[in-house]
Amino acid sequence: MEEFLLNITFHGAAGEVTGSQHLFEVNKHKVLVECGLFQGRREEAYNKNRHPEYKAEDLHAVVLSHAHLDHSGKLPRLAKLGFTGPVYATPTTVELCAPMLRDSAHVQQKDIEFVNKIHRRKHQPLFNVLYGLEETEQILKQFSSRPLHSRFEAAPGVAVTFLEAGHVLGSAQILLELEERGKKRKIGFTGDLGRFNLPLLKDPEQLSDLDALIIESTYGNREHDPVSESGSELVEVIQSAYQKRGKVLIPAFALERTQELLYLLAGLRASGKLPSDMPVYVDSPLAIKCTEIFSKHAAEYDDETRALIQSGTNPFDFPGLHYVHSVEESMALNVPGRPMIIIAASGMMEAGRILHHLKNNIEDSRNTILIVSFQAEHTLGRRIAERMPDVAIFGERMPLRARVKILNTFSGHAGRSDLIKYAQTVVKNSPRLKKVFVVHGEEDQSLPFMKELKSWNSFECLYPRRGQSVEL
Ligand SMILES: [Zn+2]
Repeated sequence: MEEFLLNITFHGAAGEVTGSQHLFEVNKHKVLVECGLFQGRREEAYNKNRHPEYKAEDLHAVVLSHAHLDHSGKLPRLAKLGFTGPVYATPTTVELCAPMLRDSAHVQQKDIEFVNKIHRRKHQPLFNVLYGLEETEQILKQFSSRPLHSRFEAAPGVAVTFLEAGHVLGSAQILLELEERGKKRKIGFTGDLGRFNLPLLKDPEQLSDLDALIIESTYGNREHDPVSESGSELVEVIQSAYQKRGKVLIPAFALERTQELLYLLAGLRASGKLPSDMPVYVDSPLAIKCTEIFSKHAAEYDDETRALIQSGTNPFDFPGLHYVHSVEESMALNVPGRPMIIIAASGMMEAGRILHHLKNNIEDSRNTILIVSFQAEHTLGRRIAERMPDVAIFGERMPLRARVKILNTFSGHAGRSDLIKYAQTVVKNSPRLKKVFVVHGEEDQSLPFMKELKSWNSFECLYPRRGQSVEL
């Protein structure tokens, strides 16, 4: 068989958006970039997550771009399967992974109990949990933090540098400088690429001088509404609920979306645009832990956020903001006719305390459900976003009478024109660029983006499928 030098195999987020895993083989060393969970339909995802197509114990190291579970969530599984090497990530990502992965272990446990209950009833074989707290604590010990812009060796012949990605706090793009028997390649991986002017975050940096680019394409065929419209849209939703003495329920991801909302609400509060007697509650233990980590990393905020703090407004501690810790405190929010804003996980309304708030408030037309993130197919969030006349919550059908408002200004991912602009700059600054791999996107988003890239006629453009290997 012909021997390849410098090989990459796409094991996840290839032709889809979840399960990011890209395996580099250099000098017989295997370095895995990302170790994400496949998400989606429960059983299908479970089967994809259980057995990676590589041997965990053969991996030399893992390099991680950011703390989202579709990039990091399978790491404890690797520990369970015998991986003992280092996991390299930025210091903030290392910190955020602790609560994120512990929460994931908890969710895995709940999920498996649910699946096994059904299997037991149908006399089908039972599943084992993907991982538990023990493996999670083990992998957290294997983390090794590396700051942005500092070049380090992840394996012999694999030098790595992290650059700002502007997607979530701590997120990085990954520059890999590979060398095997005199053959050298510079590979850029965008990870999840953020947007310009996002609240809190610095703008994404630009990779250059590459031989190959691996670029995400979540929104390769879609534009977002401008970030700058978020504030005025929020004010409209909040004021109109307040006038009806209703609540505003905001299902939000614990990492980043919650903190972005707080940043905006702090600014609105400071400028008197929020009703002074309308409190804001953050009702998610994981979101509270993530927010505590955000508070410790002010140096990573963008200039606007630092200016806001300088002017005396703390986005995570402003008048009328309350963090809800206990279940009792959460239940105490269930008072009809008292205007308030509740931010709670999970973002797609599949789990977490948001479910209780929906159950208590969905039938009351004074209330508003404000959707600020993508809602995947087959989730409660999608059914509410589509304004179904009634939806099932905890197995009970309930009429959807609350107002449903969707804001498309929030997204941590570059939209189509941002991606094109980014790629144009990479091409301009990379005279040797030979290959572009389009990953982390479904066909309806990735293929139109590829069509644009191909029309430039200056490099080979691929949309790798899961399991596909390519020589770099
Ligand atoms: Zn992400």
